[in-house]
Amino acid sequence: MERRPFGPTQRGVAVIGQGTWDSESGDRQEAITALRRGLDRGMTHIDTAEMYGSGTTEEMVGAGIAGRRDEVFLVSKVLPHNASRSGTVAACERSLTRLGTDWLDCYLLHWRGAHPLEDTIAAFEQLQREGKILSWGVSNFDVPDLEEAWEIAGEGRLVCNQVLYHLQERAIEHAVIPWCEEHGVAVVAYSPFGHGDFPGSRTKGGGVLQEIAAAHDATPRQVALRFLMRRRSLFTIPKASNPEHAAENAGAGDLQLTEAELARVDEAFPRGPCPRELPML
Ligand code: NAP
Repeated sequence: MERRPFGPTQRGVAVIGQGTWDSESGDRQEAITALRRGLDRGMTHIDTAEMYGSGTTEEMVGAGIAGRRDEVFLVSKVLPHNASRSGTVAACERSLTRLGTDWLDCYLLHWRGAHPLEDTIAAFEQLQREGKILSWGVSNFDVPDLEEAWEIAGEGRLVCNQVLYHLQERAIEHAVIPWCEEHGVAVVAYSPFGHGDFPGSRTKGGGVLQEIAAAHDATPRQVALRFLMRRRSLFTIPKASNPEHAAENAGAGDLQLTEAELARVDEAFPRGPCPRELPML
């Protein structure tokens, strides 16, 4: 599994990680098996949130990583309505308890809410001083929000922006990726399979993925994941509750595509015009 420096942390993080939204809605034991299969294959970046399953997903993740905490780059998120100065600290402590760990590798603001960004960032900085988080970032931030956070926190504090990015939703390429690259901030692509809406093999784009995959003894989803992390700033976190799916996704970690193949995917799934608002789920 390829690893890359994660924003200003310079820590080597797996390019493909594991999402956990809705993981606990099916068979919990199977979701844990999938998570551990993913870890075995190097997908050590695990993304969760206090929102998912109202905390039950963090408990499931805690069970999944038990005994393997040191392998994992563990990320969770505070809900905007909890993101006051004291609320952020309390939410983080609840997440740590559910996850059965003393620290998060990165803690994110899930999306921009009503609490002043100054307060959330002050709480993040406090948590980092106390060793409860090793770094912090944001999610669903467009450029004006990123500018504001950067202004408040100063250089090199904000390490990542987790945003919607898949073949049929490439809005972040217009301004968010360029801003993040200019400021050394990692971009984490969420819902890389369109949250369950992956292009079928009978569609034109799906056919292109299939052809490229066949040339590498790979799968269309592996080609899609590789396209989504074709730039050094990019990471991705597909969610798989099925262990076979997890293994397939991890297989993209070492897939290499030629420039011509990347150009074919680019053409098959045009990025479209810049939307007025950053799309999010
Ligand atoms: P996704 O990863 O785009 O798609 C998940 C779906 O794809 C599931 O139905 C999964 O099925 C299926 N799948 C995964 N691998 C597969 C494979 N190899 N073959 C066939 N099907 C496969 O959707 P997502 O869960 O929305 O996004 C990923 C993660 O990003 C989330 O879990 C969450 O951690 C994060 N996220 C963050 C935000 C945010 O606001 N920050 C928003 C959305 C998502 P099975 O589960 O049955 O394997």
